[in-house]
Amino acid sequence: MAVRVLVTGAAGQIGYALVPMIARGAMLGPNQPVILHMLDIPPSAGALNGVKMELIDAAFPLLKGVVATTDVVEACSGVNIAIMVGGFPRKEGMERKDVMSKNVSIYKAQASALEQHAAPDCKVLVVANPANTNALILKEFAPSIPAKNITCLTRLDHNRALGQISERLNVQVSDVKNVIIWGNHSSTQYPDVNHATVTTKGWRKTMCIRLHGEFITTVQQRGAAIIKARKLSSALSAASSACDHIHDWVLGTPKGTWVSMGVYSDGAYDIPPGLIYSFPVTCENGEWSIVQGLKIDKFSREKMTATANELTEEKSLAYSCLA
Ligand code: NDP
Repeated sequence: MAVRVLVTGAAGQIGYALVPMIARGAMLGPNQPVILHMLDIPPSAGALNGVKMELIDAAFPLLKGVVATTDVVEACSGVNIAIMVGGFPRKEGMERKDVMSKNVSIYKAQASALEQHAAPDCKVLVVANPANTNALILKEFAPSIPAKNITCLTRLDHNRALGQISERLNVQVSDVKNVIIWGNHSSTQYPDVNHATVTTKGWRKTMCIRLHGEFITTVQQRGAAIIKARKLSSALSAASSACDHIHDWVLGTPKGTWVSMGVYSDGAYDIPPGLIYSFPVTCENGEWSIVQGLKIDKFSREKMTATANELTEEKSLAYSCLA
């Protein structure tokens, strides 16, 4: 049976890179038929229809249907997976509070549509920024969707950390695993390599390399570096990481490997409950669980607390915008 996958903001740059990946089977595997639901706002309706035309022209064997619409109810109806990419971009001169205000209103409205019209077991991934806080608002305003089904994307940061280690140690990226992104998908995120491993040419090594200072800032500021180089924000890598996030959530993480996902905090690692915070997780049978018992040193604790504090502050700002 075909899985219905919603992509909001589907006419945007990430959407344009993401929908062919889904239609080709990169997200749900090479044997899983899909029906794409693409939502965008009325000013983008023409471009959205163009994306639909290109999907038809690409003749993807797994693609069993395309719904392209500006109607949120039609877009959400019966979807099994929702990837929320649409969001109001930060424009020059806008205060952080203005962007937050626009986006939390969008996510509040879309929460209701998903709650009422999506499949009951719908899995949600929020990509649009501020991703953690948008996901939290979506969760709060869709109380019947289980909290464990609402996540946000930090897999791009995770993959960026893997990529940086592979470049610096001159090893294959597939030989590096178990980095962690803690916290917010923002510049306060903490890329942690204390538990990472590199396996190459027959040796396996837990990383004791002190990849602190410059490594951390490179990962944190990679998005800005790409904007500088491309004059556009990252889209290909964001789309690919969104595929990885859903792929591993649905199909499972390989044995001995964890990934980073923004998930609802239950207080693990003393992170305040009630935030959407990025943790190391493993996935099995369509469910994620936080990796428990990792040793946290003083340096890590400070970084993990700083990013948690930022999320607590974003949460109150979001609520003040909705008040
Ligand atoms: P993109 O497709 O480039 O980005 C979409 C969202 O993803 C933005 O919020 C962006 O945040 C966020 N994002 C998260 N991680 C990353 C990352 N690593 N790199 C880049 N972006 C990231 O934006 P476009 O403007 O091309 O497309 C947005 C679409 O959303 C448009 O089609 C537009 O019509 C639609 N839209 C929908 C709205 C709604 O649903 N009501 C409202 C406004 C727009 P950031 O801005 O911080 O880069």
